Amino acid sequence: MESTDLKTVCVTGASGFIAAHAVEQLLQKGYRVIGTVRGDDSKYPYLTSLEGASERLTLAQADLLTEGAFDELLTECDYVFHTASPYIIDVKDPQRDLVDPAVKGTIHVLEACKKSPRVKRVILTSSIAAITDEPDNHHVFTEADWNQKSSLDRNPYYYSKTQAERAAWTFMEDSELGFDMVVINPFIVIGPSHGPSLNTSNQIIRDIMKGLYPTIMTVNWGFVDVRDVAKSHILAMETPEASGRYLCANQSMTMTELVQFLKDNGYQNYRLPMINMANHFGTKVMKLLSYTQPKGVGTYMRTNMGKKMQYDNSKIKKELSIEFIPAKDSVLAAVEDMLKWKHLKAR
Ligand code: NDP
Repeated sequence: MESTDLKTVCVTGASGFIAAHAVEQLLQKGYRVIGTVRGDDSKYPYLTSLEGASERLTLAQADLLTEGAFDELLTECDYVFHTASPYIIDVKDPQRDLVDPAVKGTIHVLEACKKSPRVKRVILTSSIAAITDEPDNHHVFTEADWNQKSSLDRNPYYYSKTQAERAAWTFMEDSELGFDMVVINPFIVIGPSHGPSLNTSNQIIRDIMKGLYPTIMTVNWGFVDVRDVAKSHILAMETPEASGRYLCANQSMTMTELVQFLKDNGYQNYRLPMINMANHFGTKVMKLLSYTQPKGVGTYMRTNMGKKMQYDNSKIKKELSIEFIPAKDSVLAAVEDMLKWKHLKAR
């Protein structure tokens, strides 16, 4: 590997769950980091107190929707991790709140890379959402798949991620570019958080423990530890042969397995669902009940329940040589972290 001491990496949305781990790991490896945020430095003590931050981390303000906001910053950078994008399931206006920042933000960052004399590679944080929004019992998803079903009405967060990744690949067709792009497509990212906010994916586990899910449903999640997602970005940057998309997920767990695991590991006093509806009849009932949920949650339930999500993570394991943290360890780390941040009360 080339020397990292003079290399500078820009991490957009540095305040985020995944990005803060990327900043930490980059600092640990000796890189200089420019993290873009939306507030002033005093809002991010969990970044400014990271080891190496006082010497090698600079925070700079940039909003995804502001044209040119990244131009000057990226003249100093060799690599860019573009992670910033709203990750929210229920929004008032999907075009304004999800698609615009996701797509315009991606293009603004790529345009800034094009103007920069230094940027060599962009690592784009896309998502499983750009691969599919619906499990399929008869298909194993890979990097070759594209989500063609989401829309502003159906799973709009998924739509925003698909549109943003597509716009990025279209941008990369420009033959004049002096940089390439590698895309990471994580599944459900869980684990410890540097910042106080509760991430949407850790929230799935919290909601299960707080009794928000009255029953166990036929659904499975491809968990991946947030530390592994950050590491995957760094491996994608440091591996010259890395190319294309990388589906980034460890083992999947069904809701039945997750609830049993939490029970067996000291969390039996939480309001874990007791009624098992992980069957054909239960799925029918839960699909009807999904209409009583907020729109985003309701569509997610209807498109995900009753089918098994199957995926192939061999490309990332082979080409980036990542060894994933076992999903059960990530679940426990997520729960302990939510207790630490008081997103969950000890029981
Ligand atoms: P977070 O919500 O923790 O981070 C999102 C980041 O995007 C925050 O830093 C946020 O800034 C920033 N952001 C949002 N809107 C804007 C805007 N208009 N201008 C500038 N910054 C903005 O989410 P994650 O860390 O989980 O997600 C990071 C990336 O990973 C996203 O692209 C997400 O789609 C993707 N992803 C996440 C998965 C997961 O399970 N967590 C799974 C797959 C992909 P601020 O702090 O100011 O709000």
